[in-house]
Amino acid sequence: MSSHEPRVGMLGGTFDPVHLGHLRSAVELHEALALDQLHMIPAQQPPLRGRPQVSAQQRLSLLQVGIGDTPGLVADDRELQRGGPSYSVDTLAELRAHYGEHARLVMAIGYDAFLRLAQWHQPERIFALAHLVVIARPGYSDALPESLTELVGQRGVDSVEQLMQSPRGGYLFLELPSLLAISATGIRECLYQGKSVRYLMPEPVEQAIKHHGLYQQ
Ligand code: ATP
Repeated sequence: MSSHEPRVGMLGGTFDPVHLGHLRSAVELHEALALDQLHMIPAQQPPLRGRPQVSAQQRLSLLQVGIGDTPGLVADDRELQRGGPSYSVDTLAELRAHYGEHARLVMAIGYDAFLRLAQWHQPERIFALAHLVVIARPGYSDALPESLTELVGQRGVDSVEQLMQSPRGGYLFLELPSLLAISATGIRECLYQGKSVRYLMPEPVEQAIKHHGLYQQ
């Protein structure tokens, strides 16, 4: 199979709000996997957490502002358009249908999210649709629960080249160069308490949050 097939990544999340941990990881992922495009996709209704206080549309707008003109990154609103619970396997199926059977499709998640993957909707379908790339995240080093070891099975590969030899079905753990211990939870707390969030997110995102009075008490 040709190695010139499109390489497409998906990084889903709540992005409540988007921060430099997301954006720098996205840029490094785009480079490490030599992706044509990385779709950053806010969840309409994250199935496994409470309803965010800021609307999905506002989280999407902040993501758009954060990405700006960064090459290769796109703010993708398909989960907002779809409505209902945002299941990643449905999103992957849409991307697979769009890019075709031979595209190299990668679902990327941080290690914290990976630790909860067995609770997701139909996680066993992921590998029929895409590769799974897990990125290290500071502060999360728990061993894999047995349910996940089983899910991943013999799918592990050691390199991006190996992963990209097929369109789907592989698992790769990646430690990206910049490990940033930034979380949206920490940022929301700073904002509620009136503390500075400078250098945790792009300045235009900070300005938009202030302008619209988001994440205030
Ligand atoms: P919260 O603190 O509200 O749970 P979060 O900061 O973890 O939010 P999410 O929107 O839940 O952000 O994350 C989307 C995806 O990005 C997840 O796969 C998550 O693991 C990953 N991610 C978030 N922050 C980082 C970071 N600092 N470094 C690497 N990956 C991250």
